[in-house]
Amino acid sequence: MLWNEELDLLDFLGDLKRTNRCGELRAADVGKTVVLMGWVHRRRDHGQLIFIDLRDRSGLVQVVFHKEQAPEAHAKAESLRAEFVAAIEGRVARREKPNPELPTGEIEVIATRLLILNTAQTPPFTVEDDTTAVEETRLHYRYLDLRRPRLTRNIALRHKIVLEIRKTMDEMGFYEIETPMLTRSTPEGARDYLVPSRVHPGQFYALPQSPQIFKQILMISGLDRYFQIVRCFRDEDLRADRQPEFTQLDLEMSFIRQAEVFDAIEQVMVRAFQTIGVTVARPFRHLLYKDAIRRYGSDKPDLRFGLELVDLTPQFAPGKQTLGLEGSVFGFAAPGAGTWSRKQIDELVEKGKAAGAKAVYTVKVAAEGNSSGLEKTLGAEGLKAIVAATGAKPGDLVVAAAAKQEIKGTEAAALVAGQLRLYFGERLNLIPKDRWELAWITGFPLFEWSETEKAWASAQHPFTGIFEDDLDLLEQPDRRGEIRSKGYDLVLNGYELGSGSVRIHRQDVQARVFRALGLSDEQARQRFGFFLDALTYGTPPHGGIALGIDRIAMLFAGEKSLREVIAFPKTAKAQDLMADSPSPVDSAQLDELGIRIKDVQN
Ligand code: ASP
Repeated sequence: MLWNEELDLLDFLGDLKRTNRCGELRAADVGKTVVLMGWVHRRRDHGQLIFIDLRDRSGLVQVVFHKEQAPEAHAKAESLRAEFVAAIEGRVARREKPNPELPTGEIEVIATRLLILNTAQTPPFTVEDDTTAVEETRLHYRYLDLRRPRLTRNIALRHKIVLEIRKTMDEMGFYEIETPMLTRSTPEGARDYLVPSRVHPGQFYALPQSPQIFKQILMISGLDRYFQIVRCFRDEDLRADRQPEFTQLDLEMSFIRQAEVFDAIEQVMVRAFQTIGVTVARPFRHLLYKDAIRRYGSDKPDLRFGLELVDLTPQFAPGKQTLGLEGSVFGFAAPGAGTWSRKQIDELVEKGKAAGAKAVYTVKVAAEGNSSGLEKTLGAEGLKAIVAATGAKPGDLVVAAAAKQEIKGTEAAALVAGQLRLYFGERLNLIPKDRWELAWITGFPLFEWSETEKAWASAQHPFTGIFEDDLDLLEQPDRRGEIRSKGYDLVLNGYELGSGSVRIHRQDVQARVFRALGLSDEQARQRFGFFLDALTYGTPPHGGIALGIDRIAMLFAGEKSLREVIAFPKTAKAQDLMADSPSPVDSAQLDELGIRIKDVQN
C-alpha cells in the first residue's frame, strides 16, 4: 500500500479524550473502560484475533481486537502498521498468560473501537532499545530514535535532575537570571562561535563560552546569589564527553569563601542524586591537585577503585643511563595480572605508548621469584625494590611507565600511568558500577605553561582568585608557575563535573593578572574594559562554579555518550544530522551581512 493511499483510512480525533497513558495500566484497573492513544509498536495478526502493542512515552500495553466482539475495529486493525498513530477505546482485562517482563504485563485492553489518527512510513529502524541502526541513522531520524524507551527515559531523567536543581537553588536563595546569548568573547580558552551583525556590518557577536563576566557583574550589581541553567558554546575538537553547545548549572555567590560554594553544590548534588535513588554522603572528600596527579595520574581521578600509583623514579635510578630515562617513572601493582600473556602485555605497552609513554615496563611477581626484562639492568635486588615499593603480591603484575616531562610542572609519567590504571580498572573489573565517588580537587596552579603559545596561560580563566601570599609572584616571571589559585573542580567517577573559583574582586589585582598573562593595559581595556570599570564600583568578594548538566545526566543514566542524554545533539564533527546544520546560506543573506565567502574546501 502506498503511503498516500492510506490517507483515506484516517480518522479525526473528534471529542475523544485520552483517559490513561499506555504504560500505567495495572491489574487494579481490570474492568475499567479506557481510551489510549499512541504508536503501534508491533502487530500480530492471528486471524480471529489481532494483537497490537500500543506505545507512548510511558511504555507499552497489549491491545486485542476480537473479530466477533468488535468486527469493525478488528477489520480496521488489519491496516495498522508499525508507528501508525492510533486511538483505542476498550476494556482492561486480566491476561490469561501474564508477561512478567512488562510493567503492564498482567493486563490487556480488549478494544471496542479503533481510530487511526495517522499513518507512518516504514521506519528505517525498529523503535526498540537494542536497535541495530548505526548512530548516523539514529541522529538523522532523531524523532524516531527519541521514541525508543531508553532515550525517552534519559530525557525524563534529565528533566527530573534539572527540576531538582532548580528547586534546591531556589530554596537556597538563588535567583535564576538570564544572561545574553549574543555577547562578546569570554575567555574560557576555547574558540568562539561568532554571529555576524547585520546592523553593524563587519562586527560580530560571540556566543557565550560561559556567562562568566556577566555573572560576576551580577554580583557587582548586588544580586548576591545567581544561578542559571545555561547553554554555553565552545568551538573545540569534540570527544565523547564534549558537545559544541552544552548546558551548565552556572552559579555565583557574594561575600563567600570556598566553603560556602562547596556547601551549596553539595546540597545540589545530594538532591540531584535522589532522582536516581542514590544517597551520597557529605562533605565530599577533598584532594589536592598534585596528590590527584601523583596518586591517580589524573586531575579527574576515578576514585571508585584503588590501584594507586607509586613514584618509582628512585627504584629506576640505577638504570637511568642504560634505559635512557629522561623523566620520572610511575607505576602500580595490577592484582592477579601476573599471568598475563605476551600478547596482553604487548597490548598494554601499545596503550602506554599511545598515551605518551617513552617506555612501559612490567615485572611478573611470583612466589618462585620475579621475572622481568628489567632484571638485566636492575638485577634481582632492583626488581625486589620495585615490587616492594608497589606492594605487589605473588600473582600480580607491576606496571611502570616512563615519560619525559614536556611541560613544566606536569608529571608526565604519572599521567601515562594514570591512563594504564584506568585500563586495568576496566580490564580487571575493578570498577564497581554502582559506586559514586565525588571529590573536590583544589590547590591548582594559577597559570600553566602553554607549549604551543610559549607563554603562561590561565589554568582556568583569568578571573580566578589568587592566594594572597602569592600576589607578589605575579611580577616574578620565573616563579609564575608557583602561584596558587583559588580554583576548584568537582569530579565524579573519573569525570570533571565542573570547575569554579573564588574570584579576584579587586581591579588592581585583576589588572596585574592580565599583565602577567602578557596582555598590555590597552589590550586588556579593549577586551575587558567594561568589566575592569565595573570592578571599580564596589565589587564584593565573590565566587562560583559551573557544573556540566549533560555530563551529570549521562553518568546518572549510565550512558557513555552525551548524545544519549541530549534531545538533539551534534556529531563528533559538530553537525546536526537531522536539521542538516551547519549549511550554506543564500547569497542574499550574506550580502545583507556584508560577508563574502572565500573559496572553501570541504
Ligand atoms: N565559567 C567557568 C566555566 O564555564 C566556571 C566558573 O568559573 O564558574 O568553566
